[in-house]
Amino acid sequence: MAKEGQFVEQIADINADFPQWYTDVVLKTKLVDYGPVKGTMVIRPYGYAIWENIQEQLNARFRKAGVQNAYFPLLIPMSYFTKEAEHVEGFAPEVAVVTHAGGEELAEPLAIRPTSETIIGTMMSKWVQSYRDLPLKVNQWCNVMRWEKTTRPFLRTSEFLWHEGHTAHASAEEAEEFALQMLGVYKEFMENCLAIPVLTGRKTEKERFAGAVATYTMEAMMRDGKSLQSGTSHYMGQNFAKAFEIQYQGQEGNLQTAYTTSFGVSTRLIGAIIMTHGDERGLLLPPVVAPTQCVIVPIAARKGGVVEACEKLKTELEAAGVRVAFDNTDNSPGWKFNEWEMKGVPVRIELGPRDIEAGKMVCARRDTLEKSELSLSNAAESVKSLLAQVQKDMLEAARARRESRIVYADDMAGILAGVEEGNFVKAGWCGCRACEDKIKEETAATARVYAEGETRETCAVCGEKAKHVIVYARAY
Ligand code: ZN
Repeated sequence: MAKEGQFVEQIADINADFPQWYTDVVLKTKLVDYGPVKGTMVIRPYGYAIWENIQEQLNARFRKAGVQNAYFPLLIPMSYFTKEAEHVEGFAPEVAVVTHAGGEELAEPLAIRPTSETIIGTMMSKWVQSYRDLPLKVNQWCNVMRWEKTTRPFLRTSEFLWHEGHTAHASAEEAEEFALQMLGVYKEFMENCLAIPVLTGRKTEKERFAGAVATYTMEAMMRDGKSLQSGTSHYMGQNFAKAFEIQYQGQEGNLQTAYTTSFGVSTRLIGAIIMTHGDERGLLLPPVVAPTQCVIVPIAARKGGVVEACEKLKTELEAAGVRVAFDNTDNSPGWKFNEWEMKGVPVRIELGPRDIEAGKMVCARRDTLEKSELSLSNAAESVKSLLAQVQKDMLEAARARRESRIVYADDMAGILAGVEEGNFVKAGWCGCRACEDKIKEETAATARVYAEGETRETCAVCGEKAKHVIVYARAY
């Protein structure tokens, strides 16, 4: 058993050095590797499988909302970006531009998409002619490029994968309602699929998307108390529709301008899973998106009948739709336990000669480390219900951790102390930009989201009457 603890020792202590723990986990569980160009990442099969499960879950929800998948080109004429003033200003510093191709300088430089509002807006203006063409709801799964100075796998990389939904509507009310509907879809997906509770709501003007009228966000608390913006849904009003002339003949024959939205989540979500659920043993993956939901580890594998019983169980679980692995390598059981725990597989089944004889299997939960003996006779049903329980309990555990770390403050010192201790801090705000800027300067915390429906007496910065309550946190 000398090998026991081998993997645990290789991961930095989550409480002592969280950033190093994160780096160790993403590399050692083979989710990701560094690409040759600085700031790029290679998503390895184990990481990509999580992304595919995320895609599957979101696609089902998009279809239900009437959103259809399509694909738009990677290269966008630079001139498109100048059509919406705020948008170009917001993205200019991070756009990568192609100036040469085919051995020649191009007549017009081409942007590698940092986001696709401009090209999709251009295409929508062709496709939307009559009120009958609305609403138009498209989505694309693609890569985007934003030239970042400091990068970390999944959290911030020059190139990343995401989806971007874009819709056009006949009225402002319908467009804004749809932006909020998608925010609701995201929240339900985060909670039920990723077991991550999120605070949702509107962003302040300073933090909103370049060119949007309103940006709605979902903010998740990571283990270190920092916030991770996990997805956004934007109501654009007519800003893009006017810039790209998305116009249509109304029912009375008059020319109207549409209203648009866009919404997206990215491979950042994998970072959110790691930093919400991970612990001193490594990853902990929510069953709904875990590439392997359950691993079978044979005990005394050389004894007659053990491998056969494991294979039979594997077939049975697979037939019931469980993503299952059978670890029949010649490593010791203890070594295997550590490895699969580090990889975050939600349930481990141990099966040895004595269990087989008794018609039982030992099931160990990765989240609580609890072991239970379950009957082999209806194995598939009991494993599925155990996975469902793990999924549910992971959400509740994450919610309890977050709730214990939401505090209130009435002055700058209180906000600083709160975020230093790794909390989300709720505080009153007068609504002026100067106070918002000052908080960022003095505490390194930013306004994450409006705490709608809450009231506080005074602005924590200037002491004037508070118009809003804001959730402040340091953020990734
Ligand atoms: Zn103020």
